[in-house]
Amino acid sequence: MCGIVGYIGHRQAYPIIIKGLQRLEYRGYDSAGIALYDGNTIKLSKTKGKVSDLKNKIESEISTEGTLGIGHTRWATHGVPNDVNSHPHYSNSGDLVIIHNGIIENYDSLKKELIKRGYTFQSDTDTEVLINLIEEIKKNDNLKLGKAVQIALNQVVGAYAIAVFDKNKPNEIVVAKLGSPLAIGIGDDEFFIASDASPFIEYTKNAIYLEDEEMAIIRRGKK
Ligand code: GLU
Repeated sequence: MCGIVGYIGHRQAYPIIIKGLQRLEYRGYDSAGIALYDGNTIKLSKTKGKVSDLKNKIESEISTEGTLGIGHTRWATHGVPNDVNSHPHYSNSGDLVIIHNGIIENYDSLKKELIKRGYTFQSDTDTEVLINLIEEIKKNDNLKLGKAVQIALNQVVGAYAIAVFDKNKPNEIVVAKLGSPLAIGIGDDEFFIASDASPFIEYTKNAIYLEDEEMAIIRRGKK
């Protein structure tokens, strides 16, 4: 159970997220990763090791442009600490991306069901099961992302703070929590997400702490 940081608004997301992850380092972690959306594609970089390792990797690997992004520090519960098991994780289609703090206890039975339906998995994490469960529900019933997340979480036993976005709907991030902490910072036409307020305190003092079993859909420019 470690750290989450996210941003959607008019600023560049990367500097806010990398600094935010550094502020959450005190929570302990074994890996770190970031996904950014630049208006065209999702760019994702992740690594076992420190946030400083991620910073070196990301800045040499991808362009850090983008006004939407999510970042994660991982404390492995399912799957050893390595690059592949680090978050964020894609869904099979590559459209959805998730970061997750917590544990999906019934991931094994959910995974078996998804494998029967043709899903494949890159990592050993419980989190990759959750993002594909969300994808399957969304696709089958032609649902909006928020609704699919809500239905998927009803099938999950465990603890979570999650942030998910869809590259086809790049103006929103869906967040939810049970057990793990999640704060939303509300700025002027911009929103921040984090495990505590320290990553966004310099930008806004207006924070909401989600209660267990609450979710929120954060849309660019809408309060
Ligand atoms: N259970 C997830 C994993 O092992 C998330 C762990 C965490 O809270 O960082 O990847």
